[in-house]
Order: sequence, then structure tokens, then C-alpha cells
Amino acid sequence: MTDSNFNLFFHFQKQFKSHAAKPLLVTGANIKYSYADIDKESARLANYLSNLGVQIGDRVSVQVHKSPEALSLYLACLRGGFVFHPLNTGYQSSELDYFLSNAAPAVVVCDSESVELMGPLLKKHGIANLLTLNADGSGSLIADSRSCGEEFAVVHRDKDDLAALLYSSGTTGVPKGIMLTHNNLLTNAQSLNEAWAFNEDDVLLHALPIFHVHGLFVALGCVLLSGASMRWLPGFNTDAVIELLPKCTVMMGVPTFYTRLLDSNKFDKAVVKNIRLFVSGSAPLLAETFNEFEQRTGHRILERYGMTETNMNTSNPLSGLRKAGTVGFALPGVDVRVVGESGEVLAPGEIGDLQVKGANVFKGYWKMPEKTAEDFTADGFFNTGDKGVISEDGYVSIVGRAKDLIITGGLNVYPKELELIIDDLPGVKESAVIGVPHKDFGEAIVAVIVADGATELSEEAIISAMKTSVANFKVPKKAVFLDELPRNTMGKVQKNVLRETFKALLA
Ligand code: AMP
Repeated sequence: MTDSNFNLFFHFQKQFKSHAAKPLLVTGANIKYSYADIDKESARLANYLSNLGVQIGDRVSVQVHKSPEALSLYLACLRGGFVFHPLNTGYQSSELDYFLSNAAPAVVVCDSESVELMGPLLKKHGIANLLTLNADGSGSLIADSRSCGEEFAVVHRDKDDLAALLYSSGTTGVPKGIMLTHNNLLTNAQSLNEAWAFNEDDVLLHALPIFHVHGLFVALGCVLLSGASMRWLPGFNTDAVIELLPKCTVMMGVPTFYTRLLDSNKFDKAVVKNIRLFVSGSAPLLAETFNEFEQRTGHRILERYGMTETNMNTSNPLSGLRKAGTVGFALPGVDVRVVGESGEVLAPGEIGDLQVKGANVFKGYWKMPEKTAEDFTADGFFNTGDKGVISEDGYVSIVGRAKDLIITGGLNVYPKELELIIDDLPGVKESAVIGVPHKDFGEAIVAVIVADGATELSEEAIISAMKTSVANFKVPKKAVFLDELPRNTMGKVQKNVLRETFKALLA
């Protein structure tokens, strides 16, 4: 690192200068925003927030729909040294109450429609400033900042200074504020940029939300460090994506983006003729999707693995074999290891807890020093909470979340092992295996199945097929059928919802 300013925007600024006239993004309605447009807008917003009294290190909480102006707001926070705190647009009153009390922001920015809900919360928590920003760019934030200056000197930030605060989804216990530093984001973006050979000729299809690591740091980091462009959609719409893909060279998505594309008969080789890279992450990509995608398009999707706490940890190679069902190799500068129950490092091929160490790993949980200490080992590795395995040749595979591990009659069962087998049975579209309370076994295995509609499926058929494939203690006690699996906005199957739904099934 030769530059002493670790402010992420300081490193983006080179591209803003050399590509001023070039489109940074083009919306679905074909409206172009040049690098200069976003540079000026974000400078105006940084000036505006600063004039409002927002200080370096203050949090700016943002619950808005995706828009070019929301991107400028994120960049304004980086420039000003304010801590960007994005909130999922789906959060409701009680969740927002917690986030605002915990993050204690100086400013909240929300959609005009949420003012009624936010107003009393700001009052309750003594937050002085409520600004609005709507999906179409209207609202008080942009209107009131129009007269502000279009220059803003990037604030100096050190390695460990916070750039962003993102909360974990909190499926177990209270959500935790994840403190990400400028250096976390910078080093990871540099590493991905190199690993995936981003360059100024790239055009990224951006259909991900920008309140989550994937769309916010991975996608924008690669584009803004390389001087690339984006085709910018407010969300994933299959037809809109198919229309724009021929104008793009890279797409990043969650697995559901890929299954939805495959569901469309308009999606073929011609649509992807200019694409050089498809990236998938945030949830496991089924081998079946990987294979079907390759057959349809000739592209092998590059799967990578990361989490909010760590940014990206591993990636399948750009050149070299991308293996279905694996998340590839540790990225340069990231140490990945698998450990057993007493913390001993396991040999290749053995399943255990995945731990990571590197400049990508977050600074700690906001206001939770004990929780932070609990999740780090004495030698500085972060325990991801994922179960994984590393092959002899270094490919990492995720077997599931540690908390998804089922312990039935004292024996450990990894849901992923069973899901892979069930997904291969004729008539099964996808499955999720969970543990539910059981008086003899502690937990009993239940397979939740979505049928593909092509073949008759019955619970008996599933269970007898499993009996021929796995040891008896791993055979599900019940198989239940749903029209679809509950998923969050990042495409992750919500097993906590399934466990709650079926908790009395065998009790
Ligand atoms: P989040 O912090 O919301 O990004 O969630 C991170 C979690 O998503 C990880 O700890 C993994 O459990 C899961 N995850 C992310 N990428 C993958 C992947 N490629 N395959 C399997 N699980 C993944």
C-alpha cells in the first residue's frame, strides 16, 4: 500500500478523474449518469451532510429503494468519513426501533412513505435529522442539497476507521452490528478486481440490492476500482435482465437469479454473447443449476463465498477449473482453515468449522466486545459459523451453517449431504433438510421438498429412496411438501422459518 489515505473513496477517485465523461451507470430507462455526474452529486451530498453537522465517524442510517442517488449517498458517506448504515427496505417498525437505538445515527434517510413510521422512532431515540429520498430521486435530501458545492476534499481515514455498519440478519438472537473498516473494503475490492480481471471495458449488470455486501461492496468495488460501467436495475426482473445482458460483459447474482433466467425460454446463447463472466454467491448454487446453465449458455458460473463479517473469502478461479458445488480457493491474503471441536486444524477432506483470517475480516461487533471476543480465536481467526471442508487440491465447499447441524440421537447430520441426494431424486425440484424437536432423539430429521411437477412424488417414495442411500440414522423421519421454500431477499433459504413452521410435527 503506497497511499497513506485508506479512505475507500480516495481509491475510487482515480477512476472518477480519468473517466469523468464516461457513463458510470445507465438505468433500465436508458438514463445515463456519468462518472462526473455521480462525483458531483456525491460531493454535494457530502457537503450537505457536513453542513447539517454530521461529524466524521457519525452513522448515517439509510432505508431507501435502490437508485443512482442512493449510490451517491453511499459515496458521500465514504468521502465525508461518515459511517454508512444501510437498512434492508423490508424492515418494519420493531426492527427499525432496535437498529436506530443501537446504531444511534446522526441522520436517518428514508422513503417519503416511511416518514410516518420513522418520525416517532427518531423522537424516541433523540435523532435530530430525518431526510427523504425516493426511488425516483425526489425527496428532501436531493432537493435541499442542490445549492451545495460540487467539490469535496476526501476525508483522511486510517486503516481501522469505520466505513460502514451492517447488521447481521439476526435469525438467532439479536442482530449484531458488523463494523467494516475502509481497509476491509479496500483490500477485498482490490483482491476481487484482480481475481476477476475487471477492467474499464467491462459493463456489469447490477440488479442486486445495495443494502447488502454483494451489491454494495463486491459489485460496486469492482466497478469503481476499475473504471467499468454498469447497467443498473432497481431489482431483478427476468425480462429486463434478458434485454440488458447483450449489452453487458459481467453479471453478479444470487442463485435465484440464475434459476429464474433458466426458467425463461428467451434465455439462450445469443443473450449471453458478450458476457465474459457470471458470478454467483450469497447462498449455495445447486450443482444442477450450474450444469443446466453450462448446457444452455456454455458458461460455467463462477461461485464465490463470503459473508458480511468477512467480505469475500474464496472464489473459484477465473482461468482454471470452476467446480460445481464448491466455492473455490481462498483469495490471496485470506487464510481459510477447517477446525474440529477442540480447535485442532483438520486434514483435507474432513468436515469442521470454517475459520478465516485476513485484512478482509471485520473489526468487531458494534458495542459487543464480549461477542466479538467469543467469535475470534486466540490466533486471530474468525469463526464463520459455517461448516466446511477443503479438498486435497484446495477447493473449499460449504456444508451448511453450524447452527443448521442436526444432532439426532447424539449423531451429527449435515443437512447438505441429504439435500444433495434428495435433489437428485426424480420429481424433486429442491429441498431443505431441518431438525425438529423429538422426545427420543432430541432432534429428528425432516425433509421439506418442492416437487418439479413432472413426476408423481410421495413421502414413502422419498423415504425409501433415502434408505438405500444413507445410514439409517440419517434417513428423514418425515418428508413434507411445499410449493416453494421461504427465502430472504438474498436468496437464502430461511431454515429458521421452516423450523418454526414444523416444530410440532414430531414433538
Ligand atoms: P451474509 O452475511 O448475509 O452475506 O450471509 C453470509 C452467509 O451466506 C455465509 O456465512 C454462508 O452461510 C452463506 N453463503 C454465502 N455465499 C455462499 C456460497 N457461495 N455457498 C454457500 N453459502 C454461502
